[in-house]
Amino acid sequence: MLVDHLGRKIEYLRISVTDRCNFKCIYCYTNQNWKWLPHEEILRFEEIEKIARVFAKLGGKRIRLTGGEPLLRRNIETLIEKLSQIPGIIDLSLTTNGFFLEELGEKLKKAGLKRINISLDTLNKEKFEKITGISAFEKVFKSIDLALDLGFDPVKINTVVIKGFNEDEILELAKLTLEKPIEVRFIEFMPIGKNSLWDEKHIITVGEIKAILERFSELIPDFSFGGGPAKIFKWKFAKGKIGLISPISEHFCHKCNRLRITTDGRLRPCLFSDNEINLKPILREGKGTLEEAFFLALKLKPAKHNLNFTLRPMRAIGG
Ligand code: SAM
Ligand code: SF4
Repeated sequence: MLVDHLGRKIEYLRISVTDRCNFKCIYCYTNQNWKWLPHEEILRFEEIEKIARVFAKLGGKRIRLTGGEPLLRRNIETLIEKLSQIPGIIDLSLTTNGFFLEELGEKLKKAGLKRINISLDTLNKEKFEKITGISAFEKVFKSIDLALDLGFDPVKINTVVIKGFNEDEILELAKLTLEKPIEVRFIEFMPIGKNSLWDEKHIITVGEIKAILERFSELIPDFSFGGGPAKIFKWKFAKGKIGLISPISEHFCHKCNRLRITTDGRLRPCLFSDNEINLKPILREGKGTLEEAFFLALKLKPAKHNLNFTLRPMRAIGG
């Protein structure tokens, strides 16, 4: 079992399958000096599967595919099919900007993907384009119902809240849960990848978000799933749930249960630290073992994060 030096049980692996993206979200698409990774630097499907199998053998249970935009990775359903068959992996999920769900959703479901997170920061068409750099609000909004129709369960919406951009829409976004059985999750803006927009002044804390939502109606805590960093609530008469994620105002490092694999095959113990272990010499030159790398990652996992900018942009870490 993977238990780190502070007794944290590690059972969740987030794998970035590409650093490419068709969006340029203002909070993510940062560090313009970061060049696209060359093809040969990117982990191949067999390599990802090997890592996932060792993770599962060591007690890992959950895997999420992310990026960049994971649906830009060609034949992603092939990888999903392989990962979904690994004994011990009980939860396989994916985070997407939703743009390609119409084309790929069915294939993903058939391949064994159980659940999905879609990022959506606004309900306003113009603002959507301002935030993401692409005019695709309708397409992305439609992908929520599509994901529900395809039977992904749960379907979660990730919303990064930034002062001056979308804090005026918190209530409207949360109200999506009145009619749809989805979980809308509000995430505090994090300083990843030298983001010139990031400033403590631009953070809306989950405390402030909660206050806005409670003015509408009392939030009832939901303890049915306590495995992740989100605190889950529900309005009494709503079909869906609301998640509040506070990496900044109330960090949850003491119960962090995850490791990350970057697109170019680095095992990253903490989102906020560029301290990584390169798995490619193990995978491609037989130098050392993946087991040793996982145990080293446990030792390197910091007790808590500092609010340092990371060298890598979010899309090359795997958010
Ligand atoms: N492209 C996919 C998407 O947008 O869902 C997956 C990758 S994206 C990096 C994963 C998640 O990270 C998204 O929900 C995004 O909103 C979040 N994210 C990116 N930059 C962030 C930041 N600076 N602070 C908080 N969340 C961030
Ligand atoms: Fe692309 Fe996702 Fe980053 Fe937006 S948040 S730029 S969609 S990787």
